[in-house]
Amino acid sequence: MRVCVIGTGYVGLVTGACLAHVGHQVICVDNNEAKVKLMQSGQSPIFEPGLSEIMQGSIQSQRLTFTTDLAAGVEHGQVLFIAVGTPALPTGESDTRYVEAVARGIGSHLNGGYKVIVNKSTVPIGSGDWVRMLVLDGVAERKGAVAEPVLAGMGVQDSVIPATVSEDYDFDVVSNPEFLREGSAVHDTFNPDRIVLGGNSSRAAALMQELYTPIIERQFAEDKTQPPVPMVVTDLSSAEMIKYAANAFLATKISFINEVANICDRVGADVTQVAKGIGLDSRIGSKFLQAGLGWGGSCFPKDVSALIHTADDYGFETQLLKAAVSVNQRQKLIVVEKLQQVLKILKGKTIGLLGLTFKPDTDDLRDAPSLSLIENLTRLGAKVKAYDPIISQTGMRHGLSDVIVETDAERLADSCDALVLVTEWQQFQTLDYIKMAQLMHSPIMIDGRNFLNQAVIEEAGFRYVGIGR
Ligand code: NAD
Repeated sequence: MRVCVIGTGYVGLVTGACLAHVGHQVICVDNNEAKVKLMQSGQSPIFEPGLSEIMQGSIQSQRLTFTTDLAAGVEHGQVLFIAVGTPALPTGESDTRYVEAVARGIGSHLNGGYKVIVNKSTVPIGSGDWVRMLVLDGVAERKGAVAEPVLAGMGVQDSVIPATVSEDYDFDVVSNPEFLREGSAVHDTFNPDRIVLGGNSSRAAALMQELYTPIIERQFAEDKTQPPVPMVVTDLSSAEMIKYAANAFLATKISFINEVANICDRVGADVTQVAKGIGLDSRIGSKFLQAGLGWGGSCFPKDVSALIHTADDYGFETQLLKAAVSVNQRQKLIVVEKLQQVLKILKGKTIGLLGLTFKPDTDDLRDAPSLSLIENLTRLGAKVKAYDPIISQTGMRHGLSDVIVETDAERLADSCDALVLVTEWQQFQTLDYIKMAQLMHSPIMIDGRNFLNQAVIEEAGFRYVGIGR
Protein backbone atom coordinates (compact mmCIF):
# COMPACT_ATOMS: atom_id res chain seq x y z
CA MET A 1 0.00 0.00 0.00
CA ARG A 2 1.02 3.64 -0.43
CA VAL A 3 1.65 5.33 2.90
CA CYS A 4 2.61 8.84 3.94
CA VAL A 5 3.88 9.53 7.47
CA ILE A 6 3.98 13.19 8.50
CA GLY A 7 6.41 13.92 11.33
CA THR A 8 9.53 11.77 11.56
CA GLY A 9 10.29 11.73 15.27
CA TYR A 10 10.50 8.69 17.54
CA VAL A 11 7.04 7.55 16.44
CA GLY A 12 6.82 8.71 12.82
CA LEU A 13 10.23 7.56 11.67
CA VAL A 14 9.91 4.16 13.33
CA THR A 15 6.38 3.72 11.93
CA GLY A 16 7.45 4.76 8.43
CA ALA A 17 10.58 2.60 8.39
CA CYS A 18 8.76 -0.45 9.79
CA LEU A 19 5.84 -0.13 7.35
CA ALA A 20 8.34 0.11 4.48
CA HIS A 21 10.19 -2.91 5.88
CA VAL A 22 7.01 -5.04 5.78
CA GLY A 23 6.49 -4.13 2.11
CA HIS A 24 4.57 -0.85 1.87
CA GLN A 25 5.64 2.11 -0.24
CA VAL A 26 6.31 4.88 2.27
CA ILE A 27 7.02 8.59 1.99
CA CYS A 28 8.00 10.30 5.24
CA VAL A 29 7.41 14.05 5.43
CA ASP A 30 9.02 16.40 7.92
CA ASN A 31 9.27 20.19 7.90
CA ASN A 32 12.76 20.07 9.41
CA GLU A 33 14.99 20.30 6.35
CA ALA A 34 18.21 19.31 8.10
CA LYS A 35 16.53 16.19 9.47
CA VAL A 36 15.16 15.25 6.05
CA LYS A 37 18.60 15.65 4.44
CA LEU A 38 20.13 13.40 7.09
CA MET A 39 17.46 10.74 6.58
CA GLN A 40 17.81 10.95 2.80
CA SER A 41 21.46 10.07 3.29
CA GLY A 42 20.39 6.94 5.19
CA GLN A 43 21.13 8.23 8.68
CA SER A 44 18.71 8.23 11.57
CA PRO A 45 18.41 11.52 13.47
CA ILE A 46 17.55 9.58 16.63
CA PHE A 47 19.20 6.73 18.51
CA GLU A 48 16.87 3.74 18.47
CA PRO A 49 18.19 0.15 18.39
CA GLY A 50 17.71 -1.50 14.97
CA LEU A 51 16.27 1.60 13.31
CA SER A 52 19.22 2.54 11.08
CA GLU A 53 19.41 -0.98 9.67
CA ILE A 54 15.76 -1.19 8.62
CA MET A 55 15.85 2.40 7.35
CA GLN A 56 18.85 1.69 5.13
CA GLY A 57 17.37 -1.60 3.86
CA SER A 58 14.10 0.07 2.88
CA ILE A 59 15.84 3.05 1.28
CA GLN A 60 17.91 0.65 -0.83
CA SER A 61 14.84 -1.30 -1.90
CA GLN A 62 13.24 2.06 -2.79
CA ARG A 63 10.29 1.57 -0.47
CA LEU A 64 11.19 4.47 1.81
CA THR A 65 11.82 8.08 0.84
CA PHE A 66 11.96 11.36 2.75
CA THR A 67 10.78 14.81 1.77
CA THR A 68 9.74 18.20 3.11
CA ASP A 69 7.05 18.36 0.44
CA LEU A 70 3.71 17.70 2.11
CA ALA A 71 1.84 17.93 -1.21
CA ALA A 72 3.91 15.06 -2.64
CA GLY A 73 3.30 12.98 0.49
CA VAL A 74 -0.46 13.61 0.45
CA GLU A 75 -0.68 12.80 -3.24
CA HIS A 76 1.20 9.54 -2.71
CA GLY A 77 -0.53 8.16 0.36
CA GLN A 78 -3.70 6.11 0.56
CA VAL A 79 -3.06 6.18 4.29
CA LEU A 80 -1.76 9.45 5.78
CA PHE A 81 -0.34 9.22 9.29
CA ILE A 82 -0.15 12.33 11.44
CA ALA A 83 2.78 11.66 13.80
CA VAL A 84 3.90 15.12 14.89
CA GLY A 85 4.62 16.05 18.50
CA THR A 86 1.95 17.07 21.00
CA PRO A 87 4.04 18.49 23.87
CA ALA A 88 2.51 19.86 27.06
CA LEU A 89 1.69 23.54 27.40
CA PRO A 90 2.55 25.22 30.73
CA THR A 91 -1.12 24.75 31.69
CA GLY A 92 -0.74 20.97 31.31
CA GLU A 93 -2.99 20.70 28.29
CA SER A 94 -1.69 19.29 25.06
CA ASP A 95 -0.18 21.67 22.51
CA THR A 96 -1.93 20.58 19.34
CA ARG A 97 -0.66 23.31 17.03
CA TYR A 98 1.53 20.92 15.01
CA VAL A 99 -1.39 18.55 14.47
CA GLU A 100 -3.52 21.51 13.45
CA ALA A 101 -0.95 22.71 10.89
CA VAL A 102 -0.62 19.23 9.39
CA ALA A 103 -4.39 18.60 9.23
CA ARG A 104 -5.00 21.91 7.44
CA GLY A 105 -2.03 21.17 5.19
CA ILE A 106 -3.45 17.79 4.26
CA GLY A 107 -6.75 19.45 3.41
CA SER A 108 -5.07 22.03 1.24
CA HIS A 109 -3.34 19.27 -0.77
CA LEU A 110 -6.05 16.60 -0.89
CA ASN A 111 -6.32 15.17 -4.34
CA GLY A 112 -8.66 12.63 -5.89
CA GLY A 113 -9.10 9.18 -4.42
CA TYR A 114 -10.16 7.91 -1.04
CA LYS A 115 -7.72 8.44 1.83
CA VAL A 116 -7.56 7.45 5.47
CA ILE A 117 -6.10 10.12 7.73
CA VAL A 118 -4.67 8.51 10.84
CA ASN A 119 -4.12 10.27 14.13
CA LYS A 120 -1.01 8.49 15.38
CA SER A 121 0.00 11.41 17.58
CA THR A 122 -1.39 11.28 21.10
CA VAL A 123 -4.17 13.84 20.86
CA PRO A 124 -6.82 15.07 23.29
CA ILE A 125 -10.09 13.19 23.33
CA GLY A 126 -12.32 14.52 20.57
CA SER A 127 -9.44 15.30 18.22
CA GLY A 128 -10.65 12.89 15.54
CA ASP A 129 -13.63 15.09 14.71
CA TRP A 130 -11.51 18.22 15.12
CA VAL A 131 -8.93 16.92 12.62
CA ARG A 132 -11.75 16.16 10.17
CA MET A 133 -12.96 19.74 10.52
CA LEU A 134 -9.44 21.13 10.01
CA VAL A 135 -8.89 19.03 6.91
CA LEU A 136 -12.14 20.37 5.50
CA ASP A 137 -11.03 23.89 6.46
CA GLY A 138 -7.82 23.24 4.52
CA VAL A 139 -9.86 22.13 1.52
CA ALA A 140 -12.06 25.20 1.84
CA GLU A 141 -9.08 27.54 2.10
CA ARG A 142 -7.65 26.12 -1.11
CA LYS A 143 -10.99 26.28 -2.89
CA GLY A 144 -11.58 29.76 -1.51
CA ALA A 145 -8.24 30.96 -2.80
CA VAL A 146 -8.91 29.55 -6.26
CA ALA A 147 -12.41 31.02 -6.44
CA GLU A 148 -11.60 34.33 -4.76
CA PRO A 149 -13.01 36.66 -7.46
CA VAL A 150 -16.32 34.81 -7.42
CA LEU A 151 -16.51 34.30 -3.69
CA ALA A 152 -15.44 37.84 -2.75
CA GLY A 153 -16.92 38.63 0.64
CA MET A 154 -17.56 35.02 1.61
CA GLY A 155 -15.90 33.64 4.73
CA VAL A 156 -13.89 30.43 4.65
CA GLN A 157 -16.64 28.59 6.47
CA ASP A 158 -19.06 29.42 3.64
CA SER A 159 -17.05 27.36 1.23
CA VAL A 160 -16.84 24.21 3.41
CA ILE A 161 -18.15 21.26 1.48
CA PRO A 162 -19.02 18.09 3.36
CA ALA A 163 -16.68 15.13 2.83
CA THR A 164 -17.69 12.49 0.30
CA VAL A 165 -19.69 15.08 -1.72
CA SER A 166 -16.90 15.04 -4.27
CA GLU A 167 -14.06 12.61 -4.95
CA ASP A 168 -11.68 15.40 -3.88
CA TYR A 169 -12.84 15.19 -0.27
CA ASP A 170 -13.29 11.48 0.09
CA PHE A 171 -11.53 10.67 3.33
CA ASP A 172 -12.04 9.29 6.80
CA VAL A 173 -10.21 10.12 10.01
CA VAL A 174 -9.27 7.29 12.34
CA SER A 175 -7.41 7.17 15.63
CA ASN A 176 -4.56 4.68 15.85
CA PRO A 177 -2.69 5.47 19.07
CA GLU A 178 0.90 4.34 19.39
CA PHE A 179 2.22 2.24 22.28
CA LEU A 180 5.86 1.76 21.27
CA ARG A 181 8.50 2.39 23.91
CA GLU A 182 11.60 4.39 23.11
CA GLY A 183 14.62 2.12 23.35
CA SER A 184 12.70 -0.84 21.92
CA ALA A 185 10.52 0.98 19.38
CA VAL A 186 11.34 -1.21 16.38
CA HIS A 187 10.84 -4.39 18.38
CA ASP A 188 7.57 -3.05 19.77
CA THR A 189 6.28 -2.13 16.31
CA PHE A 190 6.79 -5.68 15.04
CA ASN A 191 5.63 -7.27 18.30
CA PRO A 192 2.74 -5.15 19.59
CA ASP A 193 0.46 -6.34 22.40
CA ARG A 194 -2.49 -4.94 20.46
CA ILE A 195 -3.40 -2.53 17.69
CA VAL A 196 -6.09 0.00 18.59
CA LEU A 197 -8.21 1.53 15.88
CA GLY A 198 -10.92 4.10 16.51
CA GLY A 199 -13.39 5.38 13.95
CA ASN A 200 -16.79 4.86 12.46
CA SER A 201 -15.96 3.89 8.89
CA SER A 202 -15.81 0.22 7.96
CA ARG A 203 -14.01 1.21 4.75
CA ALA A 204 -11.22 2.88 6.73
CA ALA A 205 -11.07 -0.03 9.17
CA ALA A 206 -10.68 -2.49 6.29
CA LEU A 207 -7.83 -0.46 4.79
CA MET A 208 -6.06 -0.22 8.14
CA GLN A 209 -6.51 -3.96 8.67
CA GLU A 210 -4.90 -4.54 5.27
CA LEU A 211 -2.05 -2.16 6.10
CA TYR A 212 -1.28 -3.95 9.35
CA THR A 213 -1.79 -7.52 8.09
CA PRO A 214 1.94 -8.43 8.06
CA ILE A 215 2.21 -7.21 11.66
CA ILE A 216 -1.10 -8.72 12.80
CA GLU A 217 -0.01 -12.06 11.34
CA ARG A 218 3.35 -11.67 13.10
CA GLN A 219 5.31 -12.15 9.88
CA PHE A 220 8.13 -9.98 11.31
CA ALA A 221 7.67 -10.90 14.97
CA GLU A 222 10.28 -12.40 17.25
CA ASP A 223 7.96 -15.35 17.91
CA LYS A 224 5.99 -16.10 14.76
CA THR A 225 4.06 -18.92 16.46
CA GLN A 226 2.08 -16.55 18.67
CA PRO A 227 -1.62 -16.02 17.83
CA PRO A 228 -2.40 -12.95 15.68
CA VAL A 229 -2.04 -9.53 17.28
CA PRO A 230 -5.46 -8.51 18.69
CA MET A 231 -6.99 -5.52 16.93
CA VAL A 232 -9.22 -3.47 19.21
CA VAL A 233 -11.71 -1.54 17.07
CA THR A 234 -13.56 1.25 18.87
CA ASP A 235 -15.19 4.60 18.31
CA LEU A 236 -12.82 7.58 17.94
CA SER A 237 -13.05 8.91 21.49
CA SER A 238 -12.53 5.50 23.09
CA ALA A 239 -9.36 4.92 21.05
CA GLU A 240 -8.02 8.33 22.08
CA MET A 241 -8.93 7.57 25.70
CA ILE A 242 -7.22 4.14 25.59
CA LYS A 243 -3.86 5.83 24.96
CA TYR A 244 -4.25 8.26 27.87
CA ALA A 245 -5.66 5.62 30.20
CA ALA A 246 -2.77 3.23 29.42
CA ASN A 247 -0.09 5.81 30.19
CA ALA A 248 -1.96 7.14 33.22
CA PHE A 249 -2.23 3.62 34.61
CA LEU A 250 1.46 2.85 34.10
CA ALA A 251 2.54 6.15 35.64
CA THR A 252 0.23 5.55 38.61
CA LYS A 253 1.64 2.05 39.06
CA ILE A 254 5.16 3.48 39.31
CA SER A 255 4.03 6.17 41.73
CA PHE A 256 2.37 3.44 43.79
CA ILE A 257 5.55 1.38 44.15
CA ASN A 258 7.56 4.53 44.86
CA GLU A 259 5.19 5.34 47.69
CA VAL A 260 5.57 1.79 48.99
CA ALA A 261 9.38 2.21 48.70
CA ASN A 262 9.26 5.30 50.88
CA ILE A 263 7.35 3.37 53.53
CA CYS A 264 9.85 0.49 53.17
CA ASP A 265 12.69 2.95 53.85
CA ARG A 266 11.07 3.90 57.14
CA VAL A 267 10.04 0.47 58.40
CA GLY A 268 13.19 -1.33 57.24
CA ALA A 269 11.63 -3.45 54.48
CA ASP A 270 13.17 -3.97 51.04
CA VAL A 271 10.97 -2.74 48.20
CA THR A 272 12.67 -5.00 45.64
CA GLN A 273 11.55 -8.04 47.64
CA VAL A 274 8.11 -6.51 48.18
CA ALA A 275 7.74 -5.85 44.43
CA LYS A 276 8.71 -9.43 43.68
CA GLY A 277 6.24 -10.72 46.22
CA ILE A 278 3.32 -8.69 44.90
CA GLY A 279 4.33 -8.86 41.22
CA LEU A 280 3.97 -12.64 41.14
CA ASP A 281 0.27 -12.13 41.76
CA SER A 282 -1.12 -12.38 38.24
CA ARG A 283 -3.70 -9.69 39.04
CA ILE A 284 -0.84 -7.25 39.71
CA GLY A 285 2.01 -8.35 37.41
CA SER A 286 5.70 -7.61 37.87
CA LYS A 287 6.18 -4.90 35.25
CA PHE A 288 6.36 -1.24 36.24
CA LEU A 289 6.99 -2.16 39.86
CA GLN A 290 10.61 -0.93 39.96
CA ALA A 291 10.93 1.76 42.59
CA GLY A 292 13.23 4.61 41.69
CA LEU A 293 13.70 8.32 41.32
CA GLY A 294 10.41 8.90 39.50
CA TRP A 295 8.93 8.74 36.04
CA GLY A 296 9.73 11.12 33.22
CA GLY A 297 10.20 11.08 29.48
CA SER A 298 8.30 12.56 26.59
CA CYS A 299 5.01 10.74 27.25
CA PHE A 300 4.01 9.98 30.85
CA PRO A 301 4.24 13.51 32.28
CA LYS A 302 2.49 15.19 29.37
CA ASP A 303 -0.16 12.52 28.88
CA VAL A 304 -1.12 12.36 32.55
CA SER A 305 -1.29 16.18 32.66
CA ALA A 306 -3.42 16.26 29.51
CA LEU A 307 -5.88 13.72 30.95
CA ILE A 308 -6.13 15.70 34.19
CA HIS A 309 -6.72 18.82 32.12
CA THR A 310 -9.41 17.16 30.00
CA ALA A 311 -11.24 16.01 33.13
CA ASP A 312 -10.94 19.55 34.55
CA ASP A 313 -12.61 20.87 31.38
CA TYR A 314 -15.63 18.76 32.33
CA GLY A 315 -15.58 19.92 35.95
CA PHE A 316 -14.25 16.56 37.16
CA GLU A 317 -11.37 16.45 39.59
CA THR A 318 -9.02 13.52 39.02
CA GLN A 319 -7.92 12.81 42.57
CA LEU A 320 -5.93 9.65 41.87
CA LEU A 321 -4.06 11.05 38.86
CA LYS A 322 -3.23 14.26 40.69
CA ALA A 323 -1.86 12.17 43.56
CA ALA A 324 0.24 10.10 41.13
CA VAL A 325 1.76 13.33 39.79
CA SER A 326 2.45 14.77 43.21
CA VAL A 327 4.02 11.51 44.45
CA ASN A 328 6.26 11.66 41.37
CA GLN A 329 7.26 15.28 41.95
CA ARG A 330 8.27 14.38 45.47
CA GLN A 331 10.08 11.26 44.30
CA LYS A 332 12.29 13.32 42.01
CA LEU A 333 13.70 14.95 45.18
CA ILE A 334 14.34 11.66 46.96
CA VAL A 335 17.90 11.42 45.64
CA VAL A 336 18.68 14.93 46.86
CA GLU A 337 17.34 14.00 50.31
CA LYS A 338 19.48 10.84 50.36
CA LEU A 339 22.56 12.81 49.32
CA GLN A 340 21.87 15.30 52.11
CA GLN A 341 21.52 12.45 54.61
CA VAL A 342 24.96 11.05 53.74
CA LEU A 343 26.91 14.19 52.78
CA LYS A 344 25.00 16.69 54.96
CA ILE A 345 26.09 19.82 53.05
CA LEU A 346 25.87 19.72 49.24
CA LYS A 347 27.34 23.18 48.67
CA GLY A 348 30.83 22.75 47.23
CA LYS A 349 30.39 19.00 46.69
CA THR A 350 30.76 17.28 43.32
CA ILE A 351 28.02 14.84 42.36
CA GLY A 352 28.37 12.49 39.39
CA LEU A 353 25.34 11.21 37.51
CA LEU A 354 25.48 7.84 35.79
CA GLY A 355 23.02 8.31 32.93
CA LEU A 356 21.09 11.31 31.67
CA THR A 357 18.40 9.99 29.34
CA PHE A 358 14.99 9.21 30.80
CA LYS A 359 15.51 5.52 30.13
CA PRO A 360 18.23 3.31 28.64
CA ASP A 361 18.74 2.76 24.88
CA THR A 362 17.43 6.16 23.87
CA ASP A 363 18.94 9.61 23.36
CA ASP A 364 15.74 11.30 24.52
CA LEU A 365 16.18 13.84 27.30
CA ARG A 366 12.65 15.27 27.25
CA ASP A 367 11.38 15.55 30.83
CA ALA A 368 14.16 13.23 32.00
CA PRO A 369 14.41 13.00 35.82
CA SER A 370 18.12 13.89 35.43
CA LEU A 371 17.11 17.42 34.42
CA SER A 372 15.29 18.22 37.65
CA LEU A 373 18.04 16.49 39.62
CA ILE A 374 20.68 18.70 37.99
CA GLU A 375 18.55 21.78 38.65
CA ASN A 376 18.05 20.94 42.34
CA LEU A 377 21.66 19.96 43.00
CA THR A 378 22.92 23.11 41.31
CA ARG A 379 20.46 25.21 43.30
CA LEU A 380 21.93 23.72 46.47
CA GLY A 381 25.45 24.67 45.40
CA ALA A 382 26.76 21.30 44.18
CA LYS A 383 28.83 20.86 41.04
CA VAL A 384 27.21 18.28 38.76
CA LYS A 385 29.00 16.02 36.30
CA ALA A 386 27.45 13.25 34.21
CA TYR A 387 28.31 10.36 31.97
CA ASP A 388 25.75 8.85 29.61
CA PRO A 389 26.66 6.21 27.02
CA ILE A 390 24.77 8.00 24.25
CA ILE A 391 24.72 11.67 25.23
CA SER A 392 28.46 11.65 26.02
CA GLN A 393 29.21 10.24 22.56
CA THR A 394 26.80 12.13 20.36
CA GLY A 395 26.99 15.49 22.07
CA MET A 396 23.19 15.76 21.77
CA ARG A 397 22.83 17.96 24.80
CA HIS A 398 19.63 19.74 24.03
CA GLY A 399 18.04 20.87 27.27
CA LEU A 400 21.20 20.32 29.29
CA SER A 401 22.85 23.11 31.22
CA ASP A 402 24.70 23.31 34.54
CA VAL A 403 26.28 19.90 34.00
CA ILE A 404 29.72 18.82 32.83
CA VAL A 405 29.30 15.87 30.46
CA GLU A 406 32.26 13.50 30.83
CA THR A 407 33.40 11.06 28.15
CA ASP A 408 33.66 7.97 30.36
CA ALA A 409 32.67 6.63 33.75
CA GLU A 410 36.13 6.90 35.29
CA ARG A 411 36.53 10.54 34.36
CA LEU A 412 33.09 11.01 35.91
CA ALA A 413 34.09 9.32 39.16
CA ASP A 414 37.30 11.34 39.44
CA SER A 415 37.03 13.69 42.47
CA CYS A 416 33.30 13.07 43.01
CA ASP A 417 31.81 13.10 46.50
CA ALA A 418 28.99 10.78 45.42
CA LEU A 419 27.66 9.05 42.34
CA VAL A 420 23.97 8.72 41.51
CA LEU A 421 22.74 6.03 39.14
CA VAL A 422 20.03 7.84 37.19
CA THR A 423 19.48 5.66 34.11
CA GLU A 424 19.70 1.89 34.14
CA TRP A 425 21.95 1.45 31.09
CA GLN A 426 22.98 -2.20 30.91
CA GLN A 427 26.68 -1.29 30.62
CA PHE A 428 26.55 0.29 34.09
CA GLN A 429 26.38 -3.24 35.53
CA THR A 430 29.95 -3.94 34.47
CA LEU A 431 31.89 -0.71 35.05
CA ASP A 432 35.20 -0.92 36.93
CA TYR A 433 33.69 0.15 40.25
CA ILE A 434 36.88 -0.67 42.21
CA LYS A 435 38.85 1.85 40.15
CA MET A 436 35.98 4.35 40.24
CA ALA A 437 35.78 4.14 44.06
CA GLN A 438 39.52 4.82 44.28
CA LEU A 439 39.19 7.93 42.11
CA MET A 440 36.45 9.48 44.26
CA HIS A 441 36.73 11.82 47.24
CA SER A 442 34.18 9.71 49.06
CA PRO A 443 32.87 6.53 47.41
CA ILE A 444 29.11 6.85 47.87
CA MET A 445 26.65 5.32 45.42
CA ILE A 446 23.00 6.36 45.40
CA ASP A 447 21.32 3.76 43.18
CA GLY A 448 18.32 5.72 41.91
CA ARG A 449 16.94 2.69 40.06
CA ASN A 450 17.81 -0.17 42.45
CA PHE A 451 19.68 -1.51 39.45
CA LEU A 452 23.15 -2.34 40.70
CA ASN A 453 24.24 -5.40 42.64
CA GLN A 454 24.59 -4.02 46.16
CA ALA A 455 27.16 -6.64 47.22
CA VAL A 456 29.38 -5.94 44.20
CA ILE A 457 29.24 -2.19 44.75
CA GLU A 458 29.98 -2.52 48.46
CA GLU A 459 32.87 -4.91 47.77
CA ALA A 460 34.27 -2.31 45.38
CA GLY A 461 34.51 0.06 48.35
CA PHE A 462 31.32 2.09 48.03
CA ARG A 463 28.74 2.98 50.62
CA TYR A 464 25.56 1.85 48.79
CA VAL A 465 22.19 3.56 49.20
CA GLY A 466 19.18 2.32 47.24
CA ILE A 467 15.55 3.43 47.06
CA GLY A 468 13.30 1.74 49.60
CA ARG A 469 15.83 -0.89 50.60
P1 NAD B 1 9.00 14.10 18.02
O1 NAD B 1 9.02 15.43 18.63
O2 NAD B 1 10.16 13.18 18.21
O3 NAD B 1 8.77 14.23 16.45
C1 NAD B 1 7.86 15.07 15.86
C2 NAD B 1 8.32 15.36 14.44
O4 NAD B 1 7.31 16.10 13.77
C3 NAD B 1 9.60 16.20 14.36
O5 NAD B 1 10.53 15.57 13.51
C4 NAD B 1 9.12 17.52 13.76
O6 NAD B 1 10.10 18.14 12.96
C5 NAD B 1 7.93 17.05 12.95
N1 NAD B 1 6.96 18.11 12.62
C6 NAD B 1 6.44 19.06 13.43
N2 NAD B 1 5.58 19.83 12.73
C7 NAD B 1 5.55 19.34 11.48
C8 NAD B 1 4.85 19.71 10.30
N3 NAD B 1 4.00 20.74 10.28
N4 NAD B 1 5.06 19.00 9.18
C9 NAD B 1 5.91 17.95 9.17
N5 NAD B 1 6.61 17.55 10.27
C10 NAD B 1 6.42 18.24 11.39
O7 NAD B 1 7.68 13.41 18.55
P2 NAD B 1 7.45 11.86 18.95
O8 NAD B 1 8.13 11.55 20.22
O9 NAD B 1 7.69 11.01 17.76
O10 NAD B 1 5.89 11.91 19.25
C11 NAD B 1 4.93 12.06 18.24
C12 NAD B 1 3.56 11.78 18.83
O11 NAD B 1 3.49 10.41 19.20
C13 NAD B 1 3.25 12.58 20.09
O12 NAD B 1 1.89 12.89 20.09
C14 NAD B 1 3.56 11.60 21.20
O13 NAD B 1 2.81 11.85 22.36
C15 NAD B 1 3.14 10.29 20.59
N6 NAD B 1 3.83 9.12 21.14
C16 NAD B 1 5.16 9.19 21.39
C17 NAD B 1 5.81 8.06 21.87
C18 NAD B 1 7.29 8.11 22.18
O14 NAD B 1 7.80 7.18 22.82
N7 NAD B 1 8.02 9.15 21.77
C19 NAD B 1 5.11 6.87 22.10
C20 NAD B 1 3.75 6.84 21.80
C21 NAD B 1 3.12 7.98 21.32
